[in-house]
Amino acid sequence: MNNKRIHLSLSEQSGFEQEYIQKALNSNWITSGGPHVDDFENEIENYLSGKLFATALNSGTSAIHLALILLEIKTGDEVICQSMTFSASANPILYQGAIPVFVDSEADTWNLCPLNLEIAIKERIKKGKKPKAIITVHLYGNPYKVDEIHAIADRYEIPIIEDSAEALGSSYKGKKCGTFGAFGILSFNGNKIITTSNGGALISNSKKLKEKAIFYATQSKDVAVHYEHSEIGYNYRMSNICASVGLGQMKILNKNVEIRRGNHDFYKGVFENINDAELFEVLNQDYYSNYWMNTILVEPNIEKNINRESLRLALEEANIESRPLWKPMHLQPFFKKYPYYGNKIAEELFQNGLCLPSGSNLTKEDKNRIEEVIRTFFN
Ligand SMILES: *Cc1c(COP(=O)(O)O)cnc(C)c1O
Repeated sequence: MNNKRIHLSLSEQSGFEQEYIQKALNSNWITSGGPHVDDFENEIENYLSGKLFATALNSGTSAIHLALILLEIKTGDEVICQSMTFSASANPILYQGAIPVFVDSEADTWNLCPLNLEIAIKERIKKGKKPKAIITVHLYGNPYKVDEIHAIADRYEIPIIEDSAEALGSSYKGKKCGTFGAFGILSFNGNKIITTSNGGALISNSKKLKEKAIFYATQSKDVAVHYEHSEIGYNYRMSNICASVGLGQMKILNKNVEIRRGNHDFYKGVFENINDAELFEVLNQDYYSNYWMNTILVEPNIEKNINRESLRLALEEANIESRPLWKPMHLQPFFKKYPYYGNKIAEELFQNGLCLPSGSNLTKEDKNRIEEVIRTFFN
């Protein structure tokens, strides 16, 4: 039996990456910024469509950090953040010396819970500290309750930073994820739906904000013959070589979304007749997911030794990678001292949830192997 490792999420190449890289090398644009960075930004803007501006950066994390800086988040300010997420959503809050306030998920989308969000906002205002921003997340590519969350944020006039790192290609009511907030952020890390090896983008709604983002991302150089700095600067710009990879990857973005959604259909077939686990599916047609990651909740059954961990081990035994869902931030040793509003939804998701191989390179043979292990396990 072919027992090669099946990974959680690997990307594929279009074949055009090399051409763009070669072009960059030939023109000696081997630095941060450059013509391919501009082209890549244009392609992202066209893809997301609407009046918006993309700033290509060296990571999604830097994009969140710059969004906080542009919103003038300062030491001691409070920023609300979805607890159920990757730590990169929350770390930049601390880069600014600000205080994260974590909020639970709800069961429909596994994302920010509108009820607990409003409770958190009210409580913080009562304490004399109105939150300065809200970081929302489209976890695993699945859109959050955009209308409800943004209605609350608007009512309290708090800007949203939309962490769309996992959701390029997803949309809500026909509008692309990453375009709803005061700022949106994308990631092109190696495991995301397209990659630039390492990279990200900040989505904003004015040319001025884009220019300011580039200013901060390139060490805040004032206009002068020499290097003059009146503000703190960062080295966050995307390199022209990474953008070359990105241009090649843009050619298969739509295809990757189709493939990942196809993976989801595959898992739908697998879990249709399995009662002890449930595949995550979006709530209704308003939610269009790129299904970057397919996730399930396992119903623990002591008699049959069925739980998330025993399934993970069964898959591992067959050299198939799977992984528990993100461990909520309010349970993390580093973050648990910060305020948290919610119940136990995120905790239960973490306890029983598993991410299954969802890469755009899964073959028919891989799927057969995965299906066999899952069927054997649950029978
Ligand atoms: C990947 C990811 C990020 C960070 O992106 P990087 O490009 O790796 O810095 C942020 N938020 C979420 C939810 C992510 O999955």
